[in-house]
Amino acid sequence: MYELAPPAVYAHESVMTNPRYRARVQRVVDACSVKRDIVAFRDEDVPGLVERAGLLGKRVAMGTLDSVADPILMFHTFRFEPDGLASAKALQARLEAAGQRGGIAETLSGQGAFRWAGYNQAGDKAGHDKVCRPCWRIHLQEGCVHRCLYCGLGGLLVGMVNVEEYCVHLRALIDAHPWQKTYLLDDDADPPGLEPELGVLGPLIEFFGTLENRYLVIHTKTWNTAWMRDLKHNGHTIVVWSLSGPTQSSAIEPKAGTTEQRIEAARLAQEAGYPIRYKFKPIVPVKTWREDAARTIETVFQRTKPDIISLCGFMWMDVDEMKRRLAPVADILDPEFLAAAEAARDEVRDTRTKPFPPAMRARLYDHYLAEIRKHDPGVPVSLSTENFQMWRAFERKLGMSATNYVCGCGPQCVPGIKRLVDHPFRVAVRASAAVPGVLMAREED
Ligand code: SF4
Repeated sequence: MYELAPPAVYAHESVMTNPRYRARVQRVVDACSVKRDIVAFRDEDVPGLVERAGLLGKRVAMGTLDSVADPILMFHTFRFEPDGLASAKALQARLEAAGQRGGIAETLSGQGAFRWAGYNQAGDKAGHDKVCRPCWRIHLQEGCVHRCLYCGLGGLLVGMVNVEEYCVHLRALIDAHPWQKTYLLDDDADPPGLEPELGVLGPLIEFFGTLENRYLVIHTKTWNTAWMRDLKHNGHTIVVWSLSGPTQSSAIEPKAGTTEQRIEAARLAQEAGYPIRYKFKPIVPVKTWREDAARTIETVFQRTKPDIISLCGFMWMDVDEMKRRLAPVADILDPEFLAAAEAARDEVRDTRTKPFPPAMRARLYDHYLAEIRKHDPGVPVSLSTENFQMWRAFERKLGMSATNYVCGCGPQCVPGIKRLVDHPFRVAVRASAAVPGVLMAREED
């Protein structure tokens, strides 16, 4: 696992009283470079941990902090109770009343193992502006060790350890949704960070290895895949790297794998039989973005053979928020892109794809696509998390449309797929009433 010096380690009583779960936590603690006692907690202790022990004190965009440390580690178990959400809602209300961010209350309450992402379905307010497909997302962690400046998922990493019980409920969810072929794990974490010591991801990979035509998707910036080689994965875990050029990976994503390390981790995974994909996401326009892209893509094709590549420019915040988060690296950002973002405040006001205007994002995508095509004329290349207007502009160049493209984590994107056959918004029918431990639609990136 990563070298970590957590400021504190907490474990819920449901972890401490189960020898298998406790052993998982102990292995992680023993592997840390700073030794910490495991502090047991109960549900009623959580508000105090937040309000008095500063559990969420560093849960802000990491680029806004003077210095970034490793996260507090907290271990818990998921609960699979039909009415379990009530306790999470009560905790959320209490945290928000105390001026804290309440969104993590579900996880701190042992809820939210499986979440419905109702993209482009009735009630999705962002439906006009984001082409993602409706699906179930699955979770085992919340929080991350990678310290990306633009991200707010540092400060606290909550890991769930009852993976055997989890797989029983996941099986019920999967059986109830025959149209969903892939399951993205942890879009609010980077799953391999505590492995193999934690010993949770391996059992999940091997569980998917037993299924027919169902796949786990692990989306990561990690270097840490050597331990995955001997698992019985059966080709049913797809590993998707968020990849960035050397300037971005070293200056902006400092504890993630470097560009070289991520590609080497992908090579190792591919050699072990895992399907691999890449997302250039988010593409931060640093001054050297053109040559960084060319060099990275060349290395990708020298060492690996990806199944699909997706592209996504830096987005989801306005220009002021971007400047706040990337302040420590302001001098390496491309001034032309910065000026375009400043000038486009009105143009991008109503879109989630801000701060860069469409013409500048298209410039990124055109360059990346041209570099990829120098090495591979056939690998599917798609736009990730973009809007319908940008997709219309790129349909012809990509040979796919907003409703039939394939991507790293789409719910129908099985290994080897080149185009979707069924309309992804119409085929997705939620049938969760009989599956406990699930949440209603939640906005997820
Ligand atoms: S790898 Fe992802 S989750 Fe982790 S800090 Fe970076 S952006 Fe956040």
